[in-house]
Amino acid sequence: MLAGLARDGGLYLPAEWPQFSKAEIAGLKGLPYVELAFRIMRPFVGDAFDEAAFRRLIGEAYASFETPEVAPLKPLGDSGLHLLELFHGPTLAFKDVALQLLGRMLDHTLTARRRHATIVGATSGDTGSAAIEAVRDRKTIDIFMLFPKGRVSEVQRRQMTTVLAPNVHNIAVQGTFDDCQDLAKACFNDLAFRDRHALTAVNSINFARVMAQIVYYFWAALKLGAPERPVAFTVPSGNFGNVYAGYAARQMGLPISHFVVGTNSNDILARFFESGTMTMTDVVPTFSPSMDIQISSNFERLLFDLYDRNGVTLADAMTAFRSTGTLKVGANALAGVRALFDAGRVDDPGTLAAIADCRRRFGETIDPHTAVGYVVAQQHRRDPAIPMVVLATAHPAKFPDAVEKATGVRPPLPGRLGDLMDRAERVDGLRNDVDELKSMIDQRRAMAVAPATRSKVRT
Ligand SMILES: *Cc1c(COP(=O)(O)O)cnc(C)c1O
Repeated sequence: MLAGLARDGGLYLPAEWPQFSKAEIAGLKGLPYVELAFRIMRPFVGDAFDEAAFRRLIGEAYASFETPEVAPLKPLGDSGLHLLELFHGPTLAFKDVALQLLGRMLDHTLTARRRHATIVGATSGDTGSAAIEAVRDRKTIDIFMLFPKGRVSEVQRRQMTTVLAPNVHNIAVQGTFDDCQDLAKACFNDLAFRDRHALTAVNSINFARVMAQIVYYFWAALKLGAPERPVAFTVPSGNFGNVYAGYAARQMGLPISHFVVGTNSNDILARFFESGTMTMTDVVPTFSPSMDIQISSNFERLLFDLYDRNGVTLADAMTAFRSTGTLKVGANALAGVRALFDAGRVDDPGTLAAIADCRRRFGETIDPHTAVGYVVAQQHRRDPAIPMVVLATAHPAKFPDAVEKATGVRPPLPGRLGDLMDRAERVDGLRNDVDELKSMIDQRRAMAVAPATRSKVRT
């Protein structure tokens, strides 16, 4: 949790998955979300947290959600499709589910160890605000969030820059999202710098995020008849963290018939599941920007199983992938993943049509990411008797332009964000230059020890 990425560049995984028998899963039925979360995550944390403290952190994390259900499940008529609404947290995207908890777990641990950590991250939109909301005002943590100047939506930018907490540092980089990511990576690759500031990452490669996301797969499946009845899930995907958490739930014993991976026109995942070959291409902007990715960072975790959990061969394959831009798995491995994963892509016109269709048929307004899931879910119902859960990953008001284009109606921001457009913003500019970034972090951290000036405030 504290390290994020392993020092050798690999990703952390549990040596073995905790197992839940059919009887144990049946015993989880009817539990409130917070208690279910405790039972599912307990085996992962071991004795790193005592029970009472862990329960309390989970309770506090989900008290920040608009509904005590945390993740309401809504049937779409009698179609057999269900929306699992994961967007009732403070920043209106599913990332709050994991980050609200991770922020508290980090703070709790750092406080106990009397330590401070510095988060450096890059965001193309949703991750930034969710991470900032998760750690704002914590004395144990500073967060430096890089975003490409002028390339995130106004709602997304304001959700970050209107947080004026002293430990939050928003940085608008003159460059693309990839430039931001490279800057963040360069900080981590400088081991002296990394150690000096106890750098940590809260992007989706942090295993604690995967852990927290496993819970809602159990939650939804239990509501739909698990363990007696299997359930299918469709996941609008980018970095593959969300759907990987579903895979983990299945490894733990949850009866999931199959997964459908939805992508927008940036379809590296869909192409992989069709051909067994992963090939990098350029990223094109779409209406579902949180899925505009070139490489899915969590996919390496699934590949680990496809490489028979052999870390050495996987590391070689990943190195080759980074230099050649291509990775191919064998026919057996491909057949294995295809048994469990279907995949499909939806372009921008298809996304708008889906938002309109869902509203017309079922009276539900969905966001563009969820809309991708809504389409591919219907294309891959392997068995009509098995309920299909579509993960609704963002609130429609987070992407008002696309939703208005599709439906003619601009979705209003929920009450607690109603004044977002009037709040003061604070943000620093940065050239695409890693030395400039490092000296900014050095200075801010020195200043935090001896507070002096603050960065500029604009309204
Ligand atoms: C991050 C995000 C996704 C993609 O999730 P991954 O875990 O990266 O696959 C999909 N939809 C929304 C709204 C997101 O914020």
